[in-house]
Amino acid sequence: MEHKFAERARFVTSSETREILKVTERPEVISFAGGLPAPELFPVDPLKDACSAVLNEEGAAALQYSTTEGYIPLREAICQRMKMAGIDSSLENVLITSGSQQAIDLTGRLFINEGDTIICESPTYLAAINVFKSYKAQFIEVAMDDDGMLMEELEKRLQEHPNAKFIYTIPDFQNPTGRTLKLERRKRMIELANQYDVLIVEDNPYGAVRFAGKELPPVKHYDTEGRVIYLSTFSKIFTPGLRLGWICAHPFFIDKYVAFKQTADLHTDSFAQRITAKYMELYDIEEHIHKIKAVYKERCTAMLSCIEEFFPNNISYSKPEGGLFIWVELPKGIDSAHIFTECLKNNVACVPGAPFFPNGTQTNTLRLNYSNMPKEKIIEGMKRMGEVLHRELAN
Ligand code: PMP
Repeated sequence: MEHKFAERARFVTSSETREILKVTERPEVISFAGGLPAPELFPVDPLKDACSAVLNEEGAAALQYSTTEGYIPLREAICQRMKMAGIDSSLENVLITSGSQQAIDLTGRLFINEGDTIICESPTYLAAINVFKSYKAQFIEVAMDDDGMLMEELEKRLQEHPNAKFIYTIPDFQNPTGRTLKLERRKRMIELANQYDVLIVEDNPYGAVRFAGKELPPVKHYDTEGRVIYLSTFSKIFTPGLRLGWICAHPFFIDKYVAFKQTADLHTDSFAQRITAKYMELYDIEEHIHKIKAVYKERCTAMLSCIEEFFPNNISYSKPEGGLFIWVELPKGIDSAHIFTECLKNNVACVPGAPFFPNGTQTNTLRLNYSNMPKEKIIEGMKRMGEVLHRELAN
């Protein structure tokens, strides 16, 4: 029945990485493969209070259809949070989405014609690659160093591809590298976008989870022409299961996003929106985020020390100041898919890096997640990985 599918179905497959994650879910495996927040930090009891308050005070409204744009008190709270981060916005700039993943999908639907060019970091977020591929985009990858995307190379690519639709960037603690775009480059990115008349899609799920170093303003902070579409989410600062994300953009864009979202799901879960708004009214979400940061800092520091102690010297790795991931580069010629298989025999898992490169493979890289494992397991798992790497790199 393959021929019954639309042509675009060819471009979307259950991702390789999802298959990998299934294997790593065995209880005996210490997994650094996923990208899950620490579940023990989810505010379960406070959410019980928030749920009862919503049901008692506004039960019928919480269970009714509601507006596509989203629940006003939640959008107000989002505007406030974005102001703290350096983005001035009002209600007309904000649309609540079912996770920022939906925002990425709507972005694809809204902007990408078959064959359109989008420019992204190399490597970049796998599920965004899959979305943009499903709309048949061409990817132009721009190399990064420890301070994020290289601006000289970005300029060259913009010259070569004057009709590029947008730059897709994750400036803070990028998935998969954990790297952050430094300040001068943020300003330069906007200058280049203005000069070459290209949009920027700034995907920022991790910016609020900074546990070291100095806060940096989002790229959108420097946007004077309304060309940055900013995406964020409650997934990493609250809970991913409630599926709440948002788009902040010029109303000209928001209006179209609203029309497209209507065709997708009418509106984001009203109950989830009200529970989250109620939680923020009753509790201090900043205090909660503070706890998350402290735990991730400890886990990231432990993982970095383990790399120093247990991994061979001839590898390089990122040193994130926030977020969930560390990126490891093995010597050229080493295939991280093979390392993955060997690690799994030792009951430890990582994600091979190749799928994060939209146009092909850079096979000597891998991604490690530290948010989802307690420190003792991180140490044990990293010892096991270190043994595999020493053996395989010596061959
Ligand atoms: N963008 C990036 C860069 C991500 O890493 C993720 C989740 N891992 C998302 C978007 C989607 O997050 P959510 O849909 O949970 O908001």
